[in-house]
Amino acid sequence: MRIGGTGIIGGGLGGLAAACTLAARGHKVTLFEKNAWLGGKAAVLEEQGFRFDMGPTILTMPRVLERIFAEAGRNLSDYLDLVRLDPQWRCFYDDGTVLDLRNDPAQARQAIGAISPQDQKGFDDFMAVARRLADVSDKFFFWKSVEDLKDTMNLKANMSLETLSDVLSLRMHRTVAGQIKRNVADPRVRQMLEHFIQYVGSSPLGAPAVLCGIAQMQLGEGVWYPMGGTRAVPLALTRLAEELGVDFRTGVDVTRIHTEDGQAKALVTAEGERFEFDRVVSNMDSVRTYKELIGGTAWNSFSRGRTREAACSGVVLYLGLSKAYEHLAHHNFVFSRDPEEEFGAIYDKGEPAPDPTAYIAAPARTEPGVAPEGGEALYILVHTPYLRDRHDWSKMLPAYRRTILDKLARAAGMGDLEERIVVERTLTPQDIHDRYKVLNGAIYGLASHGKVLGAFKPGNRSRQVKGLYLAGGSAHPGPGMPMALMSGWIAADTLHQDATSNAAHVAAQ
Ligand SMILES: Cc1cc2nc3c(=O)[nH]c(=O)nc-3n(C[C@H](O)[C@H](O)[C@H](O)COP(=O)(O)OP(=O)(O)OC[C@H]3O[C@@H](n4cnc5c(N)ncnc54)[C@H](O)[C@@H]3O)c2cc1C
Repeated sequence: MRIGGTGIIGGGLGGLAAACTLAARGHKVTLFEKNAWLGGKAAVLEEQGFRFDMGPTILTMPRVLERIFAEAGRNLSDYLDLVRLDPQWRCFYDDGTVLDLRNDPAQARQAIGAISPQDQKGFDDFMAVARRLADVSDKFFFWKSVEDLKDTMNLKANMSLETLSDVLSLRMHRTVAGQIKRNVADPRVRQMLEHFIQYVGSSPLGAPAVLCGIAQMQLGEGVWYPMGGTRAVPLALTRLAEELGVDFRTGVDVTRIHTEDGQAKALVTAEGERFEFDRVVSNMDSVRTYKELIGGTAWNSFSRGRTREAACSGVVLYLGLSKAYEHLAHHNFVFSRDPEEEFGAIYDKGEPAPDPTAYIAAPARTEPGVAPEGGEALYILVHTPYLRDRHDWSKMLPAYRRTILDKLARAAGMGDLEERIVVERTLTPQDIHDRYKVLNGAIYGLASHGKVLGAFKPGNRSRQVKGLYLAGGSAHPGPGMPMALMSGWIAADTLHQDATSNAAHVAAQ
C-alpha cells in the first residue's frame, strides 16, 4: 500500500523527536512501534500504588526538548512541568564519605573542598576544560549529521588559528580518566567525575577526553525532573505529535526496509504488509537496522573496516518499599570500592563487576505520589557488560541481586532493605535486548571507546541507502535522553533539507 511521506521505524525518544520535527515542518508522518507503548526505554511500571520509571531517570539539557517544541511554535512548559534538582547526585563511598554534587557550582566546589581541599582548584580547572569541550561539541558535533572528522570541520577550507585551537582543545591523545587525573588528586572526587561518562555506557579509561564536556552539560545546565516521571517526556512528545497529525501504529514490528536502486522505498512488517514511503527514518539500533532490515551490499559497506562495539547493559531492580530511606537524595551513586576493577570487569573482561557501583533513584524526594504514604519507589541500576553468548541472566540474576543488596547494606546504610520490600520487579540485559531490539542488550547504543574516533557514531543521513535516516542512541550524536532527542531532530532536519532541495531542483527543471 502506498502511504507516502515519511515512515518511521520505532517510537523511542529519537523516533518521537523526528516525528514531531517532521510534522511541524509539514511532512506527512507514519510511525510504526513494535511495542504497545510509545517512548521505548522511557517506559513506566505501576504496581500496588508504586510508580517506577523503567529506563532513564536523569534528565539533562532540556533545551533540546525546548527546540523540538519550538519547531511547532509551542512552549515546552505548556507540556511538561520540569523541576531543577539540588543536589544533582548524592555520592556514597565505601569509606563512609558522603559527597553531594550540588546544583550551584560554588556549592559543589565547597563540598569537594570539604573532603579534599587541594581539589577545589583542580575541580575549577576540570570544569574550565569541560566548558571548552562542551562549546566545541556545540560548534562542531551538535545539531547536524556527523559521521567522521571531515563532517565536523572542513579543515582545508576553514583552517584558522581559532579552528586549530578548537582541534587542539579536543585532546585527541587523552582519555576521560587521563584528563580527570591531570586535574584532580582525590580518588573519591575522581570517581565522581569519571561517572559522567556512564551516561554513554562507556569506560572512562577508554573514552576520548572530548566527552568530559558532559560534565558541563550537567553542571552548567542542571539536572531536571519532569513531574509525572521521565515517562512524562514521551507522553508530552506523543501529545505534540498527535496535535500535528502524526499517524501512530503501535504493535507493528518492521522486519524489512525494501530498497530499489539503493533507495529506501517501503517498509515490510512481520505480518507481511508492505507500506511505500518517500523516505524512511529508523529509530531501531543502527547496526541492527543495516544488518537485519537491509542486509546485502548496504550492510557490507556499513560494517566494513569497523567493528561496532555495544555500550554497556544493566540490571535494574524496581523495589516498592513500605518505609522510605530519608537519607537518600533523589539521585544517588553508591560507588564501587575500586573503579579500575569495576571498569576492567565490565568493559575488558565482559563480566559483571564483583563490587559494582549502584545508582539509586528515590523520586519520592521530589514527587511523594510515586509511592503509598511513607513508602519509597526505589530504582536501583547497576551497569553490566553487554550480552555475551555465555551470559544467561535467568541463572545469573539471583546471585547478582545479592551482590547489589550487600553493596547497599555496606556502603549506603540500607542493611534492612529486604525487610522493607513489598513489590519487587527486575529488568535484565536480556529483557532490555528483547524489549527494545537493541544491540546485545546495550542500554546506551554503541560504546564511545577510542581516543580519536570514540565520539563518532553512524551519521543521521545514511551514506549507504538513499532516503534512509537514522535517529536514536546508536546514531550521531549518541545515547542518553538529550542526545537521542537531538538525534531525532537532526534526522528530521537532514531529511527536510534533502526533501526541499530535491523539490526545488525538480521545480527548476
Ligand atoms: C535502565 C536504563 C537507564 C537509563 N538511564 C538514563 C538516564 O538516567 N539518563 C539518560 O539520559 N539516559 C538514560 N538511559 C538511556 C536512554 O534511555 C536512551 O539513550 C534513550 O531513551 C534511547 O532512545 P532511542 O531513541 O534510541 O530509542 P529506544 O528507547 O531504544 O526505542 C527504540 C524503539 O524502537 C522500537 N523498535 C525497534 N525496532 C523496531 C522495529 N523493527 N519495528 C518497530 N519498532 C521497533 C523499540 O520497540 C523501541 O520502542 C537509560 C536507559 C536504560 C535502559
